[in-house]
Order: sequence, then C-alpha cells, then structure tokens
Amino acid sequence: MKRVFSVVFVIVVMGLLSGCCVSHEWSEATCTEPKHCLKCGEVGGGARGHSWREATCTEPRTCSVCGATSGEAAGHKWVERTMEKPKTCSVCGLTEGEPIMFREFQFKKIVPADYIHVMFSADTIMGVKGEEEGIVDFFDRDSEKKLATFNINQYLKEGSVWDYEMIPPLALSEIYFVYTIVDPDKKCTLLVIDPHGELVKKMQLMVDIPDGHRIRAQNVTEKKYVCFSDADAGDRVILFYIDCLTWSVTKGDVEKSSDDLFYTNVYTSLASMYYCDKYLLARKKDGTVDIVNEYYQYAEGEYLDATQFNRLGLALACSEGKSYDIINTDLKVVAEGVFEGDRALWRGDTVFLINSDGVRHYYAIE
Ligand SMILES: [Zn+2]
Ligand SMILES: [Zn+2]
Ligand SMILES: [Zn+2]
Repeated sequence: MKRVFSVVFVIVVMGLLSGCCVSHEWSEATCTEPKHCLKCGEVGGGARGHSWREATCTEPRTCSVCGATSGEAAGHKWVERTMEKPKTCSVCGLTEGEPIMFREFQFKKIVPADYIHVMFSADTIMGVKGEEEGIVDFFDRDSEKKLATFNINQYLKEGSVWDYEMIPPLALSEIYFVYTIVDPDKKCTLLVIDPHGELVKKMQLMVDIPDGHRIRAQNVTEKKYVCFSDADAGDRVILFYIDCLTWSVTKGDVEKSSDDLFYTNVYTSLASMYYCDKYLLARKKDGTVDIVNEYYQYAEGEYLDATQFNRLGLALACSEGKSYDIINTDLKVVAEGVFEGDRALWRGDTVFLINSDGVRHYYAIE
C-alpha cells in the first residue's frame, strides 16, 4: 500500500513540475500570439509583435509578416502642375495629367473676321455678328463647323433695345448667353441660350428703367445668381437677380448687406471668378485689381491686372510691369512671365484675350 502511494505521489509531482507532458512541443510565436505547447497548451514567452512597414501614399501601415494593417494610407502629397511638370507627388513621384499648356489659339480660321465678339465654351465658340444684324452663331471648336444660329430679330419689336454680354454669365457649371430685350412699354424679355445655341429659358417681366437703356447681365457673387443692372446708368443700379437653380426672379439685394459701403469706397466693379467660388475680382479706382475673399473683407492678392479663373482653375495675373503670370486658385504662381501685354481678359472656358501692342491675341491655358 505504501509503495503504491509513493508511485502515485511521484507521478503527481512530475505532472506539477512540467505540465501535462514530459516534453513540450512548442508552436512558433506569431505577431499577436505567444508560443504555446501543442500538447498541453502551456504558453511560453510573449507575442512577437507586428513588424510594421510605414504607411505609403497608397497603403496603410502594414505588418510585413502577417499583413495586418493599421490606420490609413498617407495619401499623395501633390505639387501643383507647372509648365514644366504635371501634377506630381513629392513622395512617390506619381504624376497626373499634363503640364500646363499655354498656346495661342487660332480661332480666326473658324470664326470669320466680321464677328465682333467671340466667347469660348468647353466645346463651342460663340460669335456675335453685330448689333444691327442680331445674329449669333455657334461653331464647333474641333470640327470648325457652324453648329447653330440664334436670330434675336424674331424677339424684337419696333423700338426695342437689346443687349448681349461680351462676358456672358455662368449659370452653375455652364456658360450661358443672356440676351435682354427691353420693349418701349418697359416689358423686359430675357433669353437664356446654352453654349450650343439652344434657347433654355425665356422669361418676361416689367422693369423700371429709363427709355432707351439696356440691361447688363453678369455674375456678381455666386454662380447661382445672375445680376441684372442698368447698363446705361452712371452708377450701378441693380434691377433684379435670377436664381439659376430655379430660374426665379429676386428683386432687392441678394448680396451680403455691408458690401455696398466697401464696394463704393474702394472698388469700381466686382465680378465673380466664374470657376472659383473662393474669391471675387475687384477693380479699384486706380484701375488695379484685387482678388478679394468672398466676404469682401480683405484682398487676398493685389495685382496691376488679373483675370477670372478658367474651368481648370488657372488665371492670369500681372504683378509688376507688363509681364503676366499664370496663377492657380491658391494664388500661387505656377508659370512665370508667360507673355507681355497691356490687358488680359477672360474669354470663357480655357481661353483668354490679351491685348498686346494694340493687337488682340487669344491664348488657351490647358
Ligand atoms: Zn506541453
Ligand atoms: Zn504581424
Ligand atoms: Zn505619392
């Protein structure tokens, strides 16, 4: 009896000293689990922990052993495109798109010389043949074919005065050509034409405007609104606004209330930047131009001359002398001294008009 007891005692003691087994069979430790005995389950040491590979532009922090991830990819650090380089990631070198192209735009072979005004949309060119003729033609930019003709004469009455905009308003993301006709009985007809010559809206309302005066349509603050003012009044007389989302007419001032004081004291004109809602283009009494923030509180940039932004977010600005730079919507110069000229104007889409020694040149920034 005593001997049996001794054997049991030894077995129990051995078991206590070394788990259930005489020799453990260890598994490999993993990133998250320590090694353990495959026979008795005993755990030895700690987990190895992940071997992290730092996050890259496109991949989050990743364990090179088990592939676990943590956090998010760092994202590319883009450097805006210039004339020399396309948009480039400063970390991985990935590029997107093309470098900025600045080239003279030869539209004269598309639009005959007797058109007095031309405006460029993304795919068409609008030419106005002259106030007397009342003909507006739309040409395809690529095929150079005439696409459509809009004849304003069909809407005119005896004694009506009409106006078209050299710089047409932008309604949301499209350039629209707005013609206003004022009849002798003060009935005003608005014709809104899309860039392909289609009439998209015809509206009529009564206006309080002196005899013979025309109406000017322009974007003032947001693309949502087109402001209609008396083109022949000495001071700026706002007649009404159109909300381009609903095409409803608003009388009174949709602009911010304290603007007028700032506007009349400092600036002679305020214009929308078309494809950039961050700023307004404000011309000062001395003819120089400020790019002001959307609340008119301060000038973000001061220039001798500047244009609106095109649909790619690029504009022309002259800081000193006669030399123009291309700036982006952060007002950073992305191409320096691209041309010399006296005056630069937005002409829609990607095209700018530049007066240089009395000659008009059209340039595309793409
Ligand atoms: Zn074991
Ligand atoms: Zn791991
Ligand atoms: Zn990158």
